[in-house]
Parts: sequence; C-alpha cells; structure tokens
Amino acid sequence: MGITRTLVLLRVVRPRSPNITAFNKIMSRQIHARRVEGVSKNVWVEFTQLAADYKAVNLGQGFPDFSPPKFVQEAFCTAVMGGPQMHQYTRAFGHPHLVKSLATFFTRIVGHEIHPLEDILVTVGAYQALFCAFQALVDDGDEVIIVEPFFDCYQPMVLMAGGKPVYVPLRPRSEDKMVLSSADWVLSIEELSSKITPRTKAIVINSPNNPLGKVYKREELQEIADLCIKHDILCISDEVYEWLTYDDTKHVKIASLPGMWERTITVGSAGKTFSATGWKVGWAISSDHIIKHMKTVHQNSIYHCATAAQEAVACGFDREYEVFGTPESYFQQLPAMLHHKRNKLASCLESVGLKPIMPEGGYFMVADISTLGVDLKDQDSKDENDFKFVKWLIREKGLATIPVSAFFSPEHRKDFNKYIRFCFVKEDSTLDAAEEILRKWSATE
Ligand code: PMP
Ligand code: GLN
Repeated sequence: MGITRTLVLLRVVRPRSPNITAFNKIMSRQIHARRVEGVSKNVWVEFTQLAADYKAVNLGQGFPDFSPPKFVQEAFCTAVMGGPQMHQYTRAFGHPHLVKSLATFFTRIVGHEIHPLEDILVTVGAYQALFCAFQALVDDGDEVIIVEPFFDCYQPMVLMAGGKPVYVPLRPRSEDKMVLSSADWVLSIEELSSKITPRTKAIVINSPNNPLGKVYKREELQEIADLCIKHDILCISDEVYEWLTYDDTKHVKIASLPGMWERTITVGSAGKTFSATGWKVGWAISSDHIIKHMKTVHQNSIYHCATAAQEAVACGFDREYEVFGTPESYFQQLPAMLHHKRNKLASCLESVGLKPIMPEGGYFMVADISTLGVDLKDQDSKDENDFKFVKWLIREKGLATIPVSAFFSPEHRKDFNKYIRFCFVKEDSTLDAAEEILRKWSATE
C-alpha cells in the first residue's frame, strides 16, 4: 500500500480519545515540559498529510519516487538474509562494517585520516546526527548562528537544547534577471561577523542548501572558516546533498579547510546519498573530542541504529569507493539524471510565467509566485502568503509543493513569503503530471 493511501486511511480510521481533554483538566499540573512549547508546528507533518488527503501530484516533501540503485537494494536483501547477527543489536555508535567503510571513503575526500571508531557516529538519519550535535554541544543560553534559508529543524533543535538561534540571511544579489541562480544568493561576511558574540558557540551551514540549492564556493567557506577559527566557534555542516551538484559546480567540505577538522561536525545521510530516505541511516563525522560527547547523547537516547540497513549502506560505500570518479559511480549517475530533471522542471515553470531560481545543487527548486496574482483572501488569514498559496494549489489544482517561508526565522518570514519550493527527484511521469496541471491552469488564466 502506498504512503498516500496509508496516510488517507489513517486519517479516516483513527478514533479521537474522548478522555484526553478530561485528563488535561484533571491533571493539576502542566503536563508538557517547556522545551516543547513553540516548536510543535512542522511543515512536513502538515503538508505531507495535506498532499495525501488530496491525492496531489507530490513535488513537496523531498524523497525520490523511484527505487534506490540495484546494488544497494541487493545489499539490503543480502543483509536481511545474512544470518541471525543481521537482525540483532550491533555496535552502539555504528555497525563496524559501516564505520570502516565511511572512514575509508571520507578520508580520501576530507584529506584527513578519519578513525572509524573514534571520529564517526552513525545515527538515525541526518536528523539524529543534528539532534545529537545540538544536545551535546549547545548549553543553556549559547548562541547558534543559522544561515537562512535553513532546513527547518535546526531552529527547534537549538531551542530544545536551550540555545538561542541567531539568524543571518542569504540575500539575492539582484532580482531583475528572469532566471536567477542559487549562486546569486550570497552571505555577507560583515553581517555574519556582526552577529558573533562571546556566547556564540556554533554556526550551522548547509551546502548544497535546502531549499535554495546554493553550493558554497571554497572562498565563501574560507571566510566562514576564518571567523570560526578567530572566534573559536564550532561549525555544524549539513552536507546531505553533497553528491548532487550541477554544471561543474564543485562541493567543498569545510572540514577539509586548514584548521577546520578539529571544529567541524559534518552531517551526512544515506537517504540522500543512495536515494533511500526510508532507511534512515545518517552519520556525523568529526574529531574524536567532539564525537565522544555526541556518543553520550546517542547512547542515552537511541543507543544504535538498524543493523541490516547499516550493512547495506556499508556495501554501497564499498562499491562507490571502487568506482569513484568513473561513470559507473552512482555519485555521478544520480546528479546526471537530476540535471535533466532540474532543467525539465525549470522550463516548465518558466513556460507558465513562474520565475525559478536555478539550483546549483540539491534536488529542490524555489520559484517566485508573486507574478501569478491568485486571489487568496478566502484562505486561513493566520497563514503566511506562501502557506495560503500552497494549500490552495493542493486543494484546487492537485499539486503539492512546500512554502519557503518555513525555512526562515519568524523575524524574516514576511520578507520571503513569495516563494515556493518544488522537488524534482521524481520520475519524469510525475514531473509530466505536474507540468500538465500547471499548463492547464495557465491556459485558463
Ligand atoms: N538536512 C537536510 C538539509 C535535509 O534536507 C534533510 C532531509 N532529509 C535532513 C537533514 C534529514 O535527513 P535524514 O532523512 O537523513 O534524516
Ligand atoms: N528533507 C526533506 C525535504 O526537505 C524531507 C524532510 C522531512 O520530511 N522531514 O523535503
């Protein structure tokens, strides 16, 4: 049964407990801890359900609607059939085969000898790597600088760790061009520098960026690195889309810059690397003096991750190590396939009068919707404009996307509520179905 159908059924059959309201009244003290206040809204929960309810063509949540490559699917099957140990607990901080494969693979990329047992923590997706990093490294009142737009979970995770998020936006250089590139969105180092205080503990960057697709150039990373070193700040570098870059754009790891290995936590995801988001295997790579604290959070919360999935990811990296840099590598094949899908989506959006921002990396495309002039006055007035628009698009046209103001701080949301995000890691038939919806709509305008 597909996810859409499952979500629709769940919504229909789940009975509401009549006792919950009564219990809240009876309980003489507040049930919830303060850390869950103000962080309960989640764009993925809301829009994934809405897309399912309306059976919309889904260019919303970021997941491939095609299968992972055969070699990792086969590795997963082999792992599952591989005897009793594949179904039991493995090493808490990462299955031995996986940490060895990750260390071998990334030593070559980072240019620093990575110790499999000391410098790596395997996590339940990149989400848990981020969560462990914030919990282990951010103290009450510590400030964490987040570059906007940002993958939405950074903010609640910093808050739940007791930290204070401080935002620095990427700003568009010029909006006059018909086709903007994500490279036109830049970080002002002066602005970043002005946000650093004695309480600044870490800066979070995401390259390729979700949702814009910006891939930081070496010089941009060097400027960030210089500030981190000067002010003794950690860098949490979310690189889950590291293999997905287009038009000769090169992804550079900030951990590979001089003086940065010791202060960078690099976060990765097998979900993005091998198009298997449901496996929820991720990792953090850093120096042992940082990873040891993240291990403490991990051992006292998750303890360890699914053994067979880790084994399959390990086999995937072993294979990629052998074919690295050749046309056989999935890390070349996937971006080549997505390059075509990116261009297909961009032409479609332009042809209906939308103004897309061409991503240099990742699998999302942001587009300006302000030219469309849709009448949204009947939509929920509490919502930002882009939330209203996306809900309208799902309900009225059957096309799901994601509102971009969800990737901004409450302070800056208003300035960026004219954009929506399309996901293009989809079968061509899904992209065709979206195109048909947009063309039909544009023909009736
Ligand atoms: N970081 C970014 C930038 C993301 O887009 C995502 C979404 N997958 C994650 C982290 C979380 O990744 P995972 O699914 O591996 O937990
Ligand atoms: N990272 C994916 C996206 O940006 C999915 C996130 C999620 O579902 N929580 O779409």
